Amino acid sequence: MKNECSIVRDLLPLYAEDMVSADTGEFVKEHLEGCTECKEEYEKMRLSQTPDTVSAQKNGTEGMNGGEESDSRADVMPLVNLQRKLRKQKVKTMMCTGLFLVALFVAAFACLSIPVYFPYEANLFTIKENGDESITITFDERVTEYRCVEDAYSGWEEGTAEGVRYYQIEAWTALWSQWFSKSGAQSVTIQKGVTEEISVYYTSNDGREDVCVYGEPVTSGGVITLPRHVLGYYFVLAVVCVGVLFVVWLFVRHKAKGKAVIETILYYPISYCIAHVIVAGYRPSTYTSGRDFMFILFVSILIYGGVLLARSVYRERKEIKELTGK
Ligand SMILES: [Zn+2]
Repeated sequence: MKNECSIVRDLLPLYAEDMVSADTGEFVKEHLEGCTECKEEYEKMRLSQTPDTVSAQKNGTEGMNGGEESDSRADVMPLVNLQRKLRKQKVKTMMCTGLFLVALFVAAFACLSIPVYFPYEANLFTIKENGDESITITFDERVTEYRCVEDAYSGWEEGTAEGVRYYQIEAWTALWSQWFSKSGAQSVTIQKGVTEEISVYYTSNDGREDVCVYGEPVTSGGVITLPRHVLGYYFVLAVVCVGVLFVVWLFVRHKAKGKAVIETILYYPISYCIAHVIVAGYRPSTYTSGRDFMFILFVSILIYGGVLLARSVYRERKEIKELTGK
């Protein structure tokens, strides 16, 4: 009988707040009807557990009190902890949802802003010489974005003329920029040096040779800008990581701590693979690997954060379930 009393005392704070399951509630209720001591304790608790008291006790403002008051405080502590936990859980759930939503938006933006390159054609842009000082390249109205890079061919400068600067230009559009940026003729001006000549190449990004559109050709041979497969390698690397970590996980899955650590690591390559599929999955190779990689990295970090939060919420929910029986 004594044993049952101590169980009921433990449950009383939760029972008083109606945070126990129906069965547990029934059990406590029955016990209270037959046990005056516990009933007294319960009444005391109910009186002291108005929200005002709880917050006052939390802030520690009750000051010096008799032994009786601190007794009831000890009883209330589990409840305060539980409330704190529930509040924290709510915040975490919101943050988790927020992270996944942001990941979705970023991925959508990545897809909408995929560059559609213009292959070289004669009326894509015009080049105007401004005396001896500079040239101005003006793009057709269809072009919403362009890039002009100096020294693009530095990798194989042997056999090329000295005193020549090389420029590579490319032009593209994207759904996003068609919707949201002002389209119209854009232009770029390249300054000429006093002693240097300049050569400008246009990159079609479709497997064809780059076209020398201004100045002397870099070499007699053709120049092709190749798509990069680096994203594919990263993806394979991530898949391999998942495989290896999974094997390690199989070995440590019976040790709680090791399992938790491996899982925490394992979630990242999985997040990376998901991000890769969302951002660039359907394109085998890309001319924009740098851009795509940044998007994949960003989205994967968001997903990873969301997964870790979701796991923490799931664990706490289980803990609270065990505590309250709900
Ligand atoms: Zn009792």
